[in-house]
Amino acid sequence: MAEEKIRFNLEKFAEDLSRRRAEITDLRQSSIESRDVVELDQTRVGRLSRMDALQSQAMSLESERRRQLELEKIEMTLTRLQNGNFGYCLKCDEEIQIKRLELDPTVTLCIDCASDK
Ligand SMILES: [Zn+2]
Repeated sequence: MAEEKIRFNLEKFAEDLSRRRAEITDLRQSSIESRDVVELDQTRVGRLSRMDALQSQAMSLESERRRQLELEKIEMTLTRLQNGNFGYCLKCDEEIQIKRLELDPTVTLCIDCASDK
């Protein structure tokens, strides 16, 4: 029964993930553009503003790194959806709880394996 429920939701998961992937791709594009702006500003502003600029650049690099990680997880999950491994724990091969997947479709471990690190 649980399996039926997961199958029923597969398309929705794939849709949500594809939408999220498009969002992240857009965000990355606009953050690349704003990073360019920061660099241009540095040529005509003083030291303090330069430090601000460096700090915001570090922050934007950090969120870029996080977006990259999320994108990788999404790609991996979409592959798992395609090859039929989605919803199964990578470690014990049991079904991952549907509630867990609804919360975060990119989880790859069941609650038991995830809490037993
Ligand atoms: Zn497991």
